[in-house]
Amino acid sequence: MDYHIVCTKCGYENGIGSFRCIKCKSILEVEYNYNSLEEWPRRTKKDVGISRYISLLPITKIFSLKEGNTPIRCYLDRKHNIKIDFKIETHNPTRTFKDRGSAIEVSKAIELNAKKIVCASTGNMGLSIARYSKRFGVGCTIFISRNANKDKINKIFAENAEIRYVNGDFNSALREAEAYAKKSGSFLCGDYHYRKEGQKTIAYELFDKNTYDYVFMPLGNGTLFSGFYKGLVEMKRFKLIKRLPKIIAIQSEGCMPLVNAYIHNKSIAYEKPNTIADAIAVGYPTFGMESISAIKATHGDALFVSDKQIVDAMQALADKNIYAEPGGAVGYAGFLEYINKNAGTFKKKRVCVIITGNNESYKS
Ligand SMILES: [Zn+2]
Repeated sequence: MDYHIVCTKCGYENGIGSFRCIKCKSILEVEYNYNSLEEWPRRTKKDVGISRYISLLPITKIFSLKEGNTPIRCYLDRKHNIKIDFKIETHNPTRTFKDRGSAIEVSKAIELNAKKIVCASTGNMGLSIARYSKRFGVGCTIFISRNANKDKINKIFAENAEIRYVNGDFNSALREAEAYAKKSGSFLCGDYHYRKEGQKTIAYELFDKNTYDYVFMPLGNGTLFSGFYKGLVEMKRFKLIKRLPKIIAIQSEGCMPLVNAYIHNKSIAYEKPNTIADAIAVGYPTFGMESISAIKATHGDALFVSDKQIVDAMQALADKNIYAEPGGAVGYAGFLEYINKNAGTFKKKRVCVIITGNNESYKS
C-alpha cells in the first residue's frame, strides 16, 4: 500500500529513514493511502509470521522469524462468571510481543541497506532486535541501563550484539541511542513509527476471529497500545469490526506517568521508575499522548497495580499454565483490579487480556 511518513505534530512529510521529524523533533506516523488497498488480506498457505499483512505494512519484503500467530486461550473466571481470552505473546521467537515490531524494523533497515542497527531497550526489545539482526546479518548495538535486568543483558550478549551500558534509566539510554544513530548514520530501532506498525498486527489477529468488549494490556512506551488502536481503526475502516472495544492501559504503581496524566487530565511528566515490572519501566512514554487519545476514543481507561498485585497475577496465570514475567502479567493484574471495582458492568461482556512476555527468571 502507498504510504508516507508524516510528523504527528506539524504534519511535515519526512523521509522513510527518519525517526523523528526533522522540522520539530516530534514523533512520526506511517500514513497510508487506504484507497490503494482493494481488500483485507486473506490468509494463504505461503504466509510466514505476520507476512499475511504485508499489504498493510510499510515494507516491501519481510524478514520473518515466524513472529505472530500467537495462541488465544479461553478460561472461565469462576469467581466473576466471565470468560477471558488470553492472547499469549510469549509464543513469539524471543518470547515477547516485541518480535512483531522487530520484524518490521529489521526488514526496513535491510531495505535501506543499513550497515548497523541501534536500539535503546529495557531488555526485551534489545534481545528481539539482536536476534533478528544476527539472523539476517546486520550489525547491532544495544544501549541499555547498567541497572537493567541481568538475565536479559546476558541473552542480548549471547545474540552477539554490541552492548553499550548507560548510567541512568531507559530514557537516558534512549537519548544516547538517538545521538549515536545520528552521528554514525545507523538505522535506529525502537519505539518509533515502524515498530508501531508491527504491534498493530495483534489487533488484526484478535479481531479476525473474535470480537471483544474490553482489551487489557500493559503500557510502557505506549507503542503496543497506540499500535493496537491503529489496527482496530483500520479494521473498522475495512468493515471487519462494527465498533471498537474499550482498551484499558495498565501501569505499575512504581512507574505510572501515563495513568497520572490520564487521571488528572494533564500532560505527561517524567517519573523515575521503581517497579519489578522492568519491561514497562519507562519514565516518559514516547507514545503517551497518542495512547491517551486512544483510551478516550474507545471509552477505555487507565489504571495502576502494585508490585504485589503483579506477583499475584503471575501466580494466578501459572495456575492456568501461562507463564509471564512481571511486565507480561500486568495486563491480567489490571483486569483483576478492574473487575473487582466494576464487576456489575461485565455481565456477558467479552474480554481479552494480552500476556506480553516471559523473558526472565523472576525471583521474589
Ligand atoms: Zn514536525
